[in-house]
Amino acid sequence: LAHLLWSFDISTHKQLETQLRELATRDSLTGMLNRRAFLERGTALIDHCRRHAKPCTVLMIDIDHFKRINDRHGHQPGDDSLRACATAIAGALREADILGRLGGEEFAALLPHSSTESAWSVAERIREAISRLEIVSLASDPLKITVSIGMAEMAHRDAGIETILAWADQALYRAKATGRNKVLAYDGATPTP
Ligand code: GH3
Ligand code: MG
Ligand code: MG
Repeated sequence: LAHLLWSFDISTHKQLETQLRELATRDSLTGMLNRRAFLERGTALIDHCRRHAKPCTVLMIDIDHFKRINDRHGHQPGDDSLRACATAIAGALREADILGRLGGEEFAALLPHSSTESAWSVAERIREAISRLEIVSLASDPLKITVSIGMAEMAHRDAGIETILAWADQALYRAKATGRNKVLAYDGATPTP
């Protein structure tokens, strides 16, 4: 009996440990990977693609004028929008892709074995799905959301996750500066502010 109790205790302990570890990697609002976990898993995935000479593309997805949405509709519908976006993005990705919430209204996806060309249609699908969402709000005008997406492919041997994210961020910046609600790919040039 003592042995049985002891092993029960150990297995409960292990389960709790696994649950805690899982919680520490997740964003509590959307259930996506948090920034740290995304960077960790992203690094491993990029290494894997590099070893197998496969392409790999990052999408940076940022909700347009989200501050305005919060101001007009309130924080709760704002949170609902974040959750609905998370679901829409996850629905467009494959099992092998990873998805994280990097900041307030900013998400990143890493698509292994995808070039910019193949990731483009995924990004467009995400953009369209989000523009079709209808979030419940008590305000008189309907709550519609759009996102801007910047993409970058692991182009040379040394590019790590932080570098590729910075490239995708530059493309995202251009998407914002040229009208929002669009997908743009990093073109290697530093944009003029
Ligand atoms: P842009 O189109 O240039 O991205 O404009 P923006 O308003 O989306 O960007 P900005 O960075 O100015 O504002 C982001 C807003 O996101 C501000 C902040 O109040 C809101 N936000 C961040 N985290 C959360 C959250 O967890 N819930 C809600 N409801 N809002 C959040
Ligand atoms: Mg934004
Ligand atoms: Mg932002």
